[in-house]
Amino acid sequence: MTTDPRPLELILAKRAGGEHTAAELRAFLTGYLAGAVPDYQVAAWLMAVCWRGMTPRETADLTLAMAHSGDVLDLSDLPHTLDKHSTGGVGDKTTLVLAPLLAVMGGTVAKMSGRGLGHTGGTVDKLESIPGFRAALSDDEFMATAREVGVVVTGQSKDLAPADGLLYALRDATGTVESLPLIASSVMSKKLAGGARSIVLDVKVGSGAFMKTVSDARALAEAMVSIGRLNGRNVRAVLSSMAQPLGHMVGNALEVTEAIACLRGEGPADLLELCLVLAEEVLTAAGLPADRGALIDAVDSGRAMARFEAWIEAQGGDVASLAHLERAPGQALVRAPRGGVVARVDALAVGRAAGALGGGRSRKGDTVDAGVGVELHAKVGTPVAAGEAVATLWHRGGRGLEAAAALVAGAFEVAENAAPQPLVLARAVGADR
Ligand code: URA
Repeated sequence: MTTDPRPLELILAKRAGGEHTAAELRAFLTGYLAGAVPDYQVAAWLMAVCWRGMTPRETADLTLAMAHSGDVLDLSDLPHTLDKHSTGGVGDKTTLVLAPLLAVMGGTVAKMSGRGLGHTGGTVDKLESIPGFRAALSDDEFMATAREVGVVVTGQSKDLAPADGLLYALRDATGTVESLPLIASSVMSKKLAGGARSIVLDVKVGSGAFMKTVSDARALAEAMVSIGRLNGRNVRAVLSSMAQPLGHMVGNALEVTEAIACLRGEGPADLLELCLVLAEEVLTAAGLPADRGALIDAVDSGRAMARFEAWIEAQGGDVASLAHLERAPGQALVRAPRGGVVARVDALAVGRAAGALGGGRSRKGDTVDAGVGVELHAKVGTPVAAGEAVATLWHRGGRGLEAAAALVAGAFEVAENAAPQPLVLARAVGADR
């Protein structure tokens, strides 16, 4: 295989709608990582991919080349390794509930998770709102915790699919994020490098998601399932609504508190339902028993919560603090402009509000305030009286409050009537192909 990346030929070929070979894609990425192919040529190629697309074979080859651009975790010594990926949402704290639940059901969740960017939150930021929690573990600590507790979650290592890290930052800066083959290869390269045998993908649809329509989300889900299968993994996908935030809490410590309530059987119904669906899908993919009654019993018996505490403790977190995680001292209410039924709570606007309060990042490396966020008192379908509080903004010294209040007020629409929206839009997507 030639190591000459010939970037200009690749750009021209893609611009004309051509198909690259696996060797060409590998050479191109190798050259980029080595600094031999400059950003501007990769950016031009990304734009050509956005317009011309990639065949399923090309997408699978690109994914594999990205997965092998760095370390590939070997989890083969661990029993039933399971992973979950969400394409990004607002108020999505499912990993915090799902991981201990799956461990109780016999799986091992040894996972690298991202930090939040833009309006979407990241699992690692949420976990770091627990005093003492360490998201950076040595390889030995990672494997030992996985073996002993069945759950371990660390931050994304820069050695895992490094080509994706570079490409993602370039896509962010060049308007080339929204491309099905680029999103599919980005997500699946990290999943393949992460090493789990069985994976459930939660593809979000709606205002707070990359995919705004069910048909786009289905196409993305099918592409990702097919990439995983071609690489010998058991993959199933779910489409779920991100028209409104998941649960009632948006913000790091607020979301951990809500996840704990869910593990105690006292959380919001939508969060629990999505966790149960994702658990059933990934357990089925792995060939493990996936009975709903057994899953509910794992929560009701306290075993899932006990496993959560064991996991947090194993990663240095102060379990005694879980009952009273620090919240920002300021509270401001957003009120319903009129009486009626809530017809819309725009997820993107609520996510941006949490960001404005200091709970998100606009740039990689920004620090986040764990204690701020938005607590929703009403969701779609909730009847409200004129002037009733529909949300509380938890703020620190008024930082970002004006912008956040305007965003949350604009996120709510109150109408004469509105039916609650379905949460799970499709299951087992691409399962039978
Ligand atoms: N999440 C990813 O990891 N990559 C994308 O391209 C989009 C969402």
